[in-house]
Amino acid sequence: MKKLGLAIIGSGATSIYCLKHILDNSAVLKKQFNRISIFERSKRMGYGMPYNPDTTDLFNLSNISSEEIPLLFQTFADWLRNQNRQDLKKWHVTEFPIEDSEVYSRIALGEYFHQQFLVLMDKLQTAGFAVEEYTNHEILDIEINDKNNIKLIAKNASFKASKVIIATGHNWQHNDKPASGYYDTPWPIKKIIPKNDAFYNFEIGVLGASLSAFDVVSSLAHRHGKFTQSKKGLEFQLNKEAKNFKITLHAAQGWLPHLQYEQEEPFREIYRHATREKILSLRNENGFLKIDSFFHSVCRSALQRAFEKDGNKEMLELLTDTKFGFKDFIEIMAKNHEYLDSFEGMKKELVQAKDSVENNKPIHWMETLDDLMYCLNFHAEMMPAEDHLFFKKDVKPFLMSVIAALPLSSAKILLALYDAEVVNLIAGRVRIIEDTNIKETTDIEISKADNKTIKKSYQLFINCSGNDNINVDTFPFQSLVKSGFVKEASAKFETVKKLTDLESTLGKDTVWKKNNEVFLNIGGIAVDSAYHIIGVNGKTCSNIHDLSFTHTHGFRPYSYGLQACLATSLIVVDSWLILEKNTNKPKTIEEVSKIYDKDDDL
Ligand SMILES: Cc1cc2nc3c(=O)[nH]c(=O)nc-3n(C[C@H](O)[C@H](O)[C@H](O)COP(=O)(O)OP(=O)(O)OC[C@H]3O[C@@H](n4cnc5c(N)ncnc54)[C@H](O)[C@@H]3O)c2cc1C
Repeated sequence: MKKLGLAIIGSGATSIYCLKHILDNSAVLKKQFNRISIFERSKRMGYGMPYNPDTTDLFNLSNISSEEIPLLFQTFADWLRNQNRQDLKKWHVTEFPIEDSEVYSRIALGEYFHQQFLVLMDKLQTAGFAVEEYTNHEILDIEINDKNNIKLIAKNASFKASKVIIATGHNWQHNDKPASGYYDTPWPIKKIIPKNDAFYNFEIGVLGASLSAFDVVSSLAHRHGKFTQSKKGLEFQLNKEAKNFKITLHAAQGWLPHLQYEQEEPFREIYRHATREKILSLRNENGFLKIDSFFHSVCRSALQRAFEKDGNKEMLELLTDTKFGFKDFIEIMAKNHEYLDSFEGMKKELVQAKDSVENNKPIHWMETLDDLMYCLNFHAEMMPAEDHLFFKKDVKPFLMSVIAALPLSSAKILLALYDAEVVNLIAGRVRIIEDTNIKETTDIEISKADNKTIKKSYQLFINCSGNDNINVDTFPFQSLVKSGFVKEASAKFETVKKLTDLESTLGKDTVWKKNNEVFLNIGGIAVDSAYHIIGVNGKTCSNIHDLSFTHTHGFRPYSYGLQACLATSLIVVDSWLILEKNTNKPKTIEEVSKIYDKDDDL
């Protein structure tokens, strides 16, 4: 039999979960392809970007506990329990016993993924697949010759495949200007760590108060002083030789992330709060699922149940008012998180979060909201352009602060640094002042809420605002764009009929008109509901799936973390088992939502 080959580009978590699901269905899938080639640009297979020791530092913690990580062959905690103390120390795992609900270093998580990847390789071969691993192989381009002949081009070689999964994940652009002390991303983090045990004896600026910003704070602080546990809690003592070391975080709203919370159901589920039929029935006469009707018909009652369990009478009351919409909900919940001093606010939240985690008391509204948005995310192709705009501007920033929660151990480190007056936060929108003259500093302008602006100058300024999204012009496989197999993702406006109303606010490249209808480019590339790439003629390429969330961020605006990696992998592999094959017709949400319904892990 001719060997038909599947190529997977990338060997991070998405790739690993795809391979696991292929293994689980190997008897059927072996008839579709019998060779699997995995291409990884780094020298390490099966780590992925955030868990790779070449990218990440010893002091960077994961924000997911073992009980929340989708299962491979062994849980993360069980795997850690089987490692020797020397290795654990090397990965900065120093607290025992190992707990299922605790978070550990990302480097330890990377080693776990790598070991699970090795088990997978073994099992796939035993199941009868020929498996090929290519480390140090960056795929630079993809060409389609004919349907079963896809060419992957690396630096010094090219490879043929009949089916391709793009699982390239994070994609940090490197526009660093080290001469001005400006770093466009903190990754790989070793580039910002002082060399040869030297100290940064000055104030460092960090843009963003995200989890990545916290990674920077933790990595630098551990090298400028010592943390000790006292009766009062964790304390930080600055090294005497680094007395001017200080980190200033800049965040537009002045918010710090919410804290980790206990969950009743650690795994997200697309149809937990509404059935498939219910969600599809919410489409209006124009075929759109509007956030407003989703909120009124699904979210309101689910959130009411959650607030009732949380004993929050005030929110329960507000939600009974049918005029109280999603925007009002976001505004009020954001206000509750808004403190005059965010660190003092975090101290208050820490008491509640500790009680939640240590005494197994879930904070139901957060978990419910996450589930609801997860559900919306996997139906976002039905949203009108108006709602894509609303989601991006209002909903997502709120979710990223609430749901991308900071582990308690990280919060304790941050508060110890705050008490030692080593870290502070300035609220206001930051503009990096571009200067054509070569300067030794990065200068920024901060616009405050009262419309006043202030300027600051930093010897070292690290941008942790965390946007590594890709659009068609930055898509890594440009031959697919040039030959029309890839196009921009877009959504139709429901109410806007005139381009002129939008061009001035959104930009001419973002909105366009066809057959009297107005469209918005929502960001990223177009894929169908089973992640096949869609070309300019509206047809899919039935043998190429793009699972990289940085490429599909417009179409799936809330796909984050390891559980989303699992979900996208399941959807794609299930689509090979269930849906009609080899057609160029885009797979619709009606077809693919049957997979959501059927697969217990979705
Ligand atoms: C700093 C950081 C911390 C995070 N922490 C957590 C966490 O604690 N918990 C959580 O649930 N989520 C976390 N996430 C979210 C993260 O996106 C997912 O957990 C997960 O890593 C995504 O896996 P992936 O395989 O899709 O992408 P990646 O992990 O980015 O893996 C993609 C792989 O593809 C390779 N690659 C890329 N381009 C090419 C190419 N052209 N050719 C060949 N190989 C290529 C890369 O080298 C990489 O190994 C974090 C994200 C970041 C940025």
